[in-house]
Amino acid sequence: MLNVRYLALKLIRANHKVLFVFFLFSFVFLIFCHLSYCFSLHEDSQHYKQLRYKMVNQQIAARGIYDQKVLQAMRDVPRHLFVPERRQRSAYGDFPLPIGYGQTISQPYIVALMTELLKPEKDDIALEVGTGSGYQAAVLSRIVEKVYTVEIITPLGRAAEKLINEMGYKNITVKVGDGYFGWEQYSPFDCIIVTAASDHIPPPLIKQLKNGGKMAIPVGKPFQVQKLMLVEKSEKGEIRIKNILPVRFVPLRRAQR
Ligand code: SAH
Repeated sequence: MLNVRYLALKLIRANHKVLFVFFLFSFVFLIFCHLSYCFSLHEDSQHYKQLRYKMVNQQIAARGIYDQKVLQAMRDVPRHLFVPERRQRSAYGDFPLPIGYGQTISQPYIVALMTELLKPEKDDIALEVGTGSGYQAAVLSRIVEKVYTVEIITPLGRAAEKLINEMGYKNITVKVGDGYFGWEQYSPFDCIIVTAASDHIPPPLIKQLKNGGKMAIPVGKPFQVQKLMLVEKSEKGEIRIKNILPVRFVPLRRAQR
């Protein structure tokens, strides 16, 4: 019995260096795995790039979006970085995703369709109402000269602003406020995109649309199917409204007065 204990002790002593090295390596390996996981959450990778290209081919181009600028912007913007970490793996699916505070990032096809409807050009000034995650603003910013975007929920607006700055999108300005009133200071806008549904088209937005400009907006009652409308202002200032397709958006809220 004594011999067994003696032998065991000897064995442990002989191997303590080996054990130490083993544990040290395991520790370093675990730290490495953790760091590379954290890093991957803020990084675009080959894997996500492939998913994004597939998304553009199968969900967007295949459904008739043909504006090359829009397709390229959708390929360029890493959508997975705009969704909460635990949703990143689903970021390139054909559906909207929750982004917190009861809000959603739209389905990729709807983002592409609304962007294409605006017929955006490189020297355009655009207004977005409903910044949310900042994804739609980032897509638009790849095409136009400047994007002004308004978000009513303070933490969402601040988080989107931080992400947009960290990612280096220099031509987007975020404001927290009620986008129902647009952003008069920078109006008129060539393009206006509203990513929350209103039961009517806000008159201030029509006013802030440039002659010859376009606005995409979901119109209808909250939590029901709404109509995606394209509002066009002619060079003479006449308004024409086209009904594009049924959609489902979160409601356009109104600030408490
Ligand atoms: N475009 C966003 C998704 C929009 S979800 C994206 O790419 O992620 C709709 C957003 O509109 C929500 O964040 C909601 O808080 C915001 N919103 C609702 N009413 C608003 C208002 N009156 N003014 C500005 N933003 C509003």
